[in-house]
Amino acid sequence: MKIVTAGSMLMSLCSCGQSTEQPVQSSFTAGTYEVSETGINEFTLSFTFSEDALTDIEVIEENETFGTGKTAIEKLSAQALEYQTTNLDVISGATVTSAAFKRALNKAVEMAGGDASLLNGEVPQENYEDTECDLVVVGAGNAGMVAAVYAIENGMDVILLESTDLLGGTSMDAAYLVGGSTNLQKELDVDCTQEDVTNWLMTRTGETSDDLYDPEWNVKFSKGATETINWLIDQSVKLNKIDPSLSRAHVSSDYTVAGNAMLDGLSAKLEELNTDVRLGNKASELIVEDGKVTGVVVETFNGTYSIHAENVLLCTGGYFANQEMVKQYFTEFADLNLPSDARIGSDGSGMLMAQEAGAQLANMNEGNVFPFAVNVNGVEYNTPLGFIWMGGIAVNQEGQRFTDETAKYLTVSKEILKQTDAQAYVVFDQTTFNTASATSADQLNQLMINGLIEKYETLEELAELIRFRLIS
Ligand SMILES: Cc1cc2nc3c(=O)[nH]c(=O)nc-3n(C[C@H](O)[C@H](O)[C@H](O)COP(=O)(O)OP(=O)(O)OC[C@H]3O[C@@H](n4cnc5c(N)ncnc54)[C@H](O)[C@@H]3O)c2cc1C
Repeated sequence: MKIVTAGSMLMSLCSCGQSTEQPVQSSFTAGTYEVSETGINEFTLSFTFSEDALTDIEVIEENETFGTGKTAIEKLSAQALEYQTTNLDVISGATVTSAAFKRALNKAVEMAGGDASLLNGEVPQENYEDTECDLVVVGAGNAGMVAAVYAIENGMDVILLESTDLLGGTSMDAAYLVGGSTNLQKELDVDCTQEDVTNWLMTRTGETSDDLYDPEWNVKFSKGATETINWLIDQSVKLNKIDPSLSRAHVSSDYTVAGNAMLDGLSAKLEELNTDVRLGNKASELIVEDGKVTGVVVETFNGTYSIHAENVLLCTGGYFANQEMVKQYFTEFADLNLPSDARIGSDGSGMLMAQEAGAQLANMNEGNVFPFAVNVNGVEYNTPLGFIWMGGIAVNQEGQRFTDETAKYLTVSKEILKQTDAQAYVVFDQTTFNTASATSADQLNQLMINGLIEKYETLEELAELIRFRLIS
């Protein structure tokens, strides 16, 4: 991938302001310099300098996370080039990669014999003023992006607010979209009906409370899922495949997880519709007049402003990135301090804001714990679900199977926590691996480069190397 100056998408989504000619204050030994740095994974970039400017940044190799690290490298490269600067703010939501990018840029300047402190153009920050619109959508995860696109297509004047510097929220991690009787399933001749999905939901909901066992809601959800998936595909979101191990799971042959396909498809649509997307703009308060919500107060880098709107839609996701709220509401697991893979924007601010305006919160104790995840140095790696659905088994350190791996996540998680060191291994064969590779190649790649998958030719070898006790 080649990065030149700020692309049109970056400009329209970031509202970064107009490009300004920056005075050149540094001098370099012209040439191209390669630098490797470690963000979430190691990446290598090449930086090209003329005698008086940074002229090009190219990605030689990187395995950063889709939608976060990758996007941060693109955005920061564009800013460094356009504003001739090493003076870059971190991209909130991708702080690790941002810091690594800045280290790489500083190293490159040094290699080119320049002075990083003199490459000091200023990246402009947008100043927003009080305004009004038909609909303000708060939060640009899947829910918010879908709502904004749908409303604009139906003639509304929309502002989409996002507190972090990135689109996509936690949604970008969603592995697949559940639905039955969709056009895609019919086209691919996959047998899974809306009723199958309703029946499955009845076995999965109510993980922590019985309140969610609502048959009517499940029927509504299944119907909505069919319509939504059909609509998304009509919007050119590339959901073009059904997971071979799970007939209700809509995935994409072009992306590791469905959330990535959603992010790419919906952000392209928002751009096409010339949407007023405001990144780094956090709604901090609902404006209430005569008992009606009439807008939001927005916090930005440069201060606060208000948006008055006929309609306000909160699409602010969950609260698992807010430890205080986890302690308060998700009491059963709170003491374990389990790492959360919710994105930093899942800070519960939308719920608190609504509560402040008089709304009642419900189902706050509902959450999930994904059992098949490994945390290495603060980075989480998930085992593809294909391993589980296609016959992988979980065993403890004594080599014993201790649960039905396909049970509810919370049930399996609780069982794992009872095992030695609260750990388990997933054991699978080559056929299972090959099936999972078909839909989760990138995920598997991440597991492999981090040494989290080991291959053994025989069961005895496996048992010896990981010191399982073999039970014949
Ligand atoms: C690892 C993982 C795997 C998953 N797999 C699946 C799956 O396979 N299938 C599935 O259906 N679901 C899955 N889920 C659940 C799914 O991701 C969530 O249900 C979904 O992301 C919720 O979407 P959302 O748009 O409501 O919230 P989010 O995607 O979290 O978006 C909320 C957005 O609002 C922003 N925001 C928050 N507060 C404010 C504020 N005050 N002002 C402005 N912006 C704000 C946040 O920064 C964020 O960008 C998974 C979740 C995780 C964590």
